[in-house]
Amino acid sequence: MRVSEPQEIASGVVLMTTGSGPLASNVYLVRSGPSWAMIDSGWAASAEPLRAAVEQLLGPGEVPAAIFLTHLHPDHSGAAGTLARTWKIPAYVHRAELPMAAGRYVPGYSMPLDRWLVAPFVWSLPARVRRRIEAAGDITDVVHGLPRSGEVPGLPDWAAVPTPGHTPGHVAYWRSKDGVLMTGDAVTTVDLNSARGLLLRASHVSGPPWYTTWSRRTAMDSVARLAELGPRLLAPGHGQPIAMEVVPRLRAAAAKEKAQRMARRRRIAGAPEAA
Ligand SMILES: [Zn+2]
Ligand SMILES: [Zn+2]
Repeated sequence: MRVSEPQEIASGVVLMTTGSGPLASNVYLVRSGPSWAMIDSGWAASAEPLRAAVEQLLGPGEVPAAIFLTHLHPDHSGAAGTLARTWKIPAYVHRAELPMAAGRYVPGYSMPLDRWLVAPFVWSLPARVRRRIEAAGDITDVVHGLPRSGEVPGLPDWAAVPTPGHTPGHVAYWRSKDGVLMTGDAVTTVDLNSARGLLLRASHVSGPPWYTTWSRRTAMDSVARLAELGPRLLAPGHGQPIAMEVVPRLRAAAAKEKAQRMARRRRIAGAPEAA
């Protein structure tokens, strides 16, 4: 799997994209004093090219101090187990994501794609094959829960901001001193909800793709909350970073979703119109 050239998008913040087309997923490297940390890890298939690219960027003998994950989905956490074991470093995720760290299907955490496709498929497999797939995605040996305080170990300038919805324990990473916000899948700048948006890969601030989202409504409340932080640079899990009119665009994305929800309710006769 291809890894893009590293691109410094803010002071001490480097973007690398793994994969291409609709499978492209962003990985960030963040510097704090002399050390580096990685935010998200891309797909499992990008582990080796990403390892090589990161080691080349950091210089001889240097590896990141930790991997911080926005959430546990294969396009963000797929390579985390391999990289954390290779570099002998910890990975961190919000505590509410930990039930998914064994790589098993957890019914309470399911999203539409799981319910329609993945769960029936997984349960149709022989138990032996299923166990092998689960073992490959198991990162329980390297993953830790983030501190409840919101602090990010080893990155004193950064905070982990809970943004539940896409998954129950999704977090964004926020550097308030210069307004850098890494949103994972809580906000993307590619319209993953429309084929047209995917084809054009237009810079379009939107919430997470609904077919992989656990709770769309909670997700859009999280988008509104991120707008309140007042970010100046939005660095998404998919799509290009955006530095223009970030707050109005976040507010517009949240408002659009709310308007669509109200319209759906009005179509159901007698349903209350409260938000
Ligand atoms: Zn996701
Ligand atoms: Zn994603």
